[in-house]
Amino acid sequence: MKNRTNPRILVLGGGFGGLETAFYLRMRLGNQADITLVSDKDHFLFKPNTIYIPFGQDVERLKIPLEPPLKRRNIRFMQTQAHQVDSIHRTVGTGEGAVPFDYLVVATGAGMRPEEIPGLKAHGHNIWTPEDMLALRQAFETLAAEASASNNRRVLFLVPPNNKHAGPLYEMAFLFDSWLQKHDRHDGIDLILTTYEDSYLQSFGNRFDSIISEEFDRRHITAYKQYEVERVEPNEVVYKNGQSVPYDLLVSFPPYVASTPFLGLPSDPRGFVTTYQESRRVIECPCIYAVGDISNFPVKQAYLAVLQADAAAEHIAADILNTKPTINYSHPVSMYVLDEFDTATFAQIPLEVKNFYQQSAEVPAGDAETYRVGSSPVWHYGKKLLGMYLPQRFRAGKPLHSGVAWQGMEAGLKVLSQVLTH
Ligand SMILES: Cc1cc2nc3c(=O)[nH]c(=O)nc-3n(C[C@H](O)[C@H](O)[C@H](O)COP(=O)(O)OP(=O)(O)OC[C@H]3O[C@@H](n4cnc5c(N)ncnc54)[C@H](O)[C@@H]3O)c2cc1C
Repeated sequence: MKNRTNPRILVLGGGFGGLETAFYLRMRLGNQADITLVSDKDHFLFKPNTIYIPFGQDVERLKIPLEPPLKRRNIRFMQTQAHQVDSIHRTVGTGEGAVPFDYLVVATGAGMRPEEIPGLKAHGHNIWTPEDMLALRQAFETLAAEASASNNRRVLFLVPPNNKHAGPLYEMAFLFDSWLQKHDRHDGIDLILTTYEDSYLQSFGNRFDSIISEEFDRRHITAYKQYEVERVEPNEVVYKNGQSVPYDLLVSFPPYVASTPFLGLPSDPRGFVTTYQESRRVIECPCIYAVGDISNFPVKQAYLAVLQADAAAEHIAADILNTKPTINYSHPVSMYVLDEFDTATFAQIPLEVKNFYQQSAEVPAGDAETYRVGSSPVWHYGKKLLGMYLPQRFRAGKPLHSGVAWQGMEAGLKVLSQVLTH
């Protein structure tokens, strides 16, 4: 039964951060809070596996309708767009009017801004939405149909500055290469990857560099580091170091910005909301939290969004229950699987932010035991398993990162990582 003295908790966003927050709060608080979730979409999208759409994955199977699991947990669902936060009067402006709150969690994710790079929007394919991935499927098909030993085609994968999670673009290059080999369609197709980074997948520390270099060699993919894009022409990319690389098909993961900039909240120039690291509470806003890609943590990942959501939800619950929070986001340890179809790389990555505004993160030196990276075909099946398990938790209205099932999964990953990584 609804209790009129219950605090009103409003969660914006139906992605990893939003759902984890809402389900964790319901699990922790029982019926001691009125929880509302606002999302512009009627479904959750399991974004990490959209990487398989160009190779035949059915888009609909990556979606979970929001209404049934939220209803099951007595969480009110409003399908509408949030466009403004009034932190003084504690209301959020939405397409259905102002919604009041006692606690607010902003989890509206990131968006792409290809316009930052002249020519990128007009000439490049993105890997961001399911629609982008379907367009890429068509482009890969067309290119493979046109190419032959006497009719060479070049596919250029481009990592520009201010992309906050380059892993999926490397993953796409490797998956495409495996797909071409599997279907015996590699003749006449050259793959090239350029990145502005000093080392491959730099935000995940120095151990990826040699593993990824070896994969590029094994697959005969040409790759260049420290190539910062200046502009994109119809058939070539021009870099700030004076070099240019021609292409027939350009695939990029553009610079990140907040999906919705909330002018009422302290934010950086890209719209990422400024938070205290431990709690994800927004600075100068006692009852407002930001988790996931919209927050100012410099690396944007689903795994990190979930850790942030747990910390924020725990801090809100502790405030309501007058207890001490048991989860902090002080020393996040991420997990990531970069799939290639025929093999995959698993990484467990401790991350440390370098200053209060969390503008950059590094793998702390001297944490060799926690920092583990390794490749094995086993991780390909590990990613498949995660792709089945994680959406099921949300479908059941449960947070990902709790309960016996997760503890078993995490223990299994730890054992495997001891054996298969270094
Ligand atoms: C191709 C690809 C592969 C990836 N692979 C991995 C991986 O292997 N591992 C990993 O950890 N991460 C991966 N990521 C990153 C991961 O998907 C994101 O970090 C994660 O989705 C962030 O979660 P979030 O809840 O912050 O945002 P999202 O998941 O983007 O959710 C935001 C939600 O807010 C809603 N919304 C947006 N604006 C509004 C508004 N104004 N009002 C109401 N609702 C709004 C959106 O519809 C959405 O439901 C990948 C990303 C991509 C694109």
